[in-house]
Amino acid sequence: MSALNGTAVIDADVHALVPSIERLFPWLDAHWQEVAQTTQFRGPTDTPYPPSAATSMRPDLDPAAGVAETVEDLRAHVLDPTGVEAAILVCAYATEAIKNPDAAAALSTAANSWVAEQWLASEPRLHGSIVVPGLHPTLAVEEIERCAENPRFVQVVLPVRSFAPYGNRIWWPLLDVVTRHGLVLNLHFGGASGDPPTSVGWPSTYLEEYVDMPSAFQTQIMSLVAEGAFDRFPDLRVLCSESGFAWLPSFMWRFDRLWHALRREMPWVRRAPSAYIRDHIRVTTQPFDVPVDEFPRVYDHIGSDELLCYATDYPHWQSETVAAAVPPLPEGPALQAILGGNARRLFGLGGERN
Ligand code: ZN
Repeated sequence: MSALNGTAVIDADVHALVPSIERLFPWLDAHWQEVAQTTQFRGPTDTPYPPSAATSMRPDLDPAAGVAETVEDLRAHVLDPTGVEAAILVCAYATEAIKNPDAAAALSTAANSWVAEQWLASEPRLHGSIVVPGLHPTLAVEEIERCAENPRFVQVVLPVRSFAPYGNRIWWPLLDVVTRHGLVLNLHFGGASGDPPTSVGWPSTYLEEYVDMPSAFQTQIMSLVAEGAFDRFPDLRVLCSESGFAWLPSFMWRFDRLWHALRREMPWVRRAPSAYIRDHIRVTTQPFDVPVDEFPRVYDHIGSDELLCYATDYPHWQSETVAAAVPPLPEGPALQAILGGNARRLFGLGGERN
């Protein structure tokens, strides 16, 4: 049980960051070790979290020491203070930034092995997210097949900013393997495919990039619904991480309204888009993108107790304290669902699944 309102808590988004390519050497073959040692290749150096940005690191953590590099650090920084029963570990390693398909695949495999052996094996509360080479769907499928043999991996993480929307047919083999193995598709903040981060080109500042990120989540959800991905893969479940959630009511209303007017374009979409979203999409609570006083009203407009999943987004600075990451709802079934029940069913933890 947790210190948070006495409720069993699942943290749906905590991060491990690969500190350097050398850390992955035990899982890289001699060729890629030699490349790293004799050239300027350092693996993926693009990051959606600039080290100097205020949002990138909790202020109570030592920037010089960096983010948790060991399970002991993670326990001390986030798992024990919140008393979570489980946490979903997302390794932020932007292999979609690597154009060489062999390098992207080798580093994805190494990162997943590092997570499995150094993190998951020594902390039973942690569950893993499979890193895949996001520019190469065929290689991504191979890596998912390999990692899915380890039941501690519960989702596949893809950056929300991709080179093509995830409902596109080129991704269907990946959606197929994700659902066949009972995994969750995690669309996560960021992405370094080389395409502009906004729909109208390159902004000048990180602030613009950061604030605009929910538009990419909306594009991805629209694509999955409109292309018929949820009809083709009825068991497909998607978790949006670091997307915010306050935009959901207006987005669903607009999508539904125009679907009624234009649905002849997509006869395979048989229900209102909001029905697909409420059935298949889940969203983490950090960053909290609504004033605290307004939260109950926005939550009411979302129209479901099943969509939101509590997350600290450790080590990123989205809230002053861990306790401040708890949505301001009265104690009761809705809050319990957000803090643990929704993620427990999404990931099938404790034998539950929806
Ligand atoms: Zn995150």
